Amino acid sequence: MSLLRSTFIGLSRNARLRHFAEQSSLGRRMSSRFVAGFRIEDALVAANQLAAQGLAVTLDSLGENVTTPEQARQSAQVYHWLLDKIDPAQLNANVSLKLTQMGMDLGPDVAGGIVSGLVDHAVQTNSFVRVDMEGTEYTQATIDLVRQLHAKPDNRGHVGVVIQAYLRRSADDIARLLSDRIRIRLCKGAYREPPDLAFPEKKDVDANFVALTKTLLKSGVFHGIATHDPAMIDATKEFARTEHIDPASFEFQMLYGVRRDLQRSLVKEGYKVRIYVPFGDEWYPYFMRRLAERPANVLFLARNFFRK
Ligand SMILES: Cc1cc2nc3c(=O)[nH]c(=O)nc-3n(C[C@H](O)[C@H](O)[C@H](O)COP(=O)(O)OP(=O)(O)OC[C@H]3O[C@@H](n4cnc5c(N)ncnc54)[C@H](O)[C@@H]3O)c2cc1C
Repeated sequence: MSLLRSTFIGLSRNARLRHFAEQSSLGRRMSSRFVAGFRIEDALVAANQLAAQGLAVTLDSLGENVTTPEQARQSAQVYHWLLDKIDPAQLNANVSLKLTQMGMDLGPDVAGGIVSGLVDHAVQTNSFVRVDMEGTEYTQATIDLVRQLHAKPDNRGHVGVVIQAYLRRSADDIARLLSDRIRIRLCKGAYREPPDLAFPEKKDVDANFVALTKTLLKSGVFHGIATHDPAMIDATKEFARTEHIDPASFEFQMLYGVRRDLQRSLVKEGYKVRIYVPFGDEWYPYFMRRLAERPANVLFLARNFFRK
């Protein structure tokens, strides 16, 4: 992992900087590059604008690592409101959440109870709950919880998980999840992990991403291939073409504000594309992970700031 990447990921966990940034008007302005706004209404406006360009969305109410059951319940309440609003708005939208935002640090039962209520709600509104993947201290517990929720017959197809190609364990995890026919979002992985758990070299992460994409595409389950990397996207298209896999049987997923040109060109080519739309006050850790992925974004933001 590069020094810059590692530094930004380290800064993403700095509580004092976080407090300062989230309160400052400069910070809030900068965040708008990757965050759709601070309120549910802002996220819905963004979702409608994206829908007009042929893009589906998944809505993420930002927040992670809550410390009380009350905070966890409040975080879940935002998702209940979202699920209520998505349905009548007839948006091609679902929701993405983090287990640590639902109380995972207080115990798997706390998070499990809360997320189970959200999945029930998604079943009633014919929607879908994607459980994002966080650092490796949560990998096993996240997979266990999603499998447990998905085992309830009504929930099938209404809850899915994320797998990170940088983890050495991911091929095994995917095999188990596919035996339950669970929908997977494949991404490279955004946290700082030790080399015994995660491939340190980009070329190995990329090779694993392509190998895992092939497994997912062949599985007959609807999955999300989440990347902005043109090489990963080309490999996915190429594999689908040579294996005669219907492009409608999977979707590409990208982050709000990242490679908008690529998002639009994929839609034009006829691929399904879903945009991850984060919103809310607690944008700092998410924002810093985006800078970590591409430190050139720091220069980009600075240039735009001084231009204003
Ligand atoms: C929809 C979605 C959901 C995600 N969910 C999770 C999750 O649950 N858990 C998790 O750990 N990670 C998640 N991620 C983040 C992911 O793990 C990567 O950190 C991130 O997508 C960058 O990897 P990449 O595949 O785009 O390729 P990279 O190899 O990082 O980048 C390839 C190219 O993509 C472009 N690019 C990438 N990132 C940026 C950026 N921030 N700004 C501008 N251009 C960029 C650049 O052109 C770059 O050269 C998610 C990503 C997406 C798209």
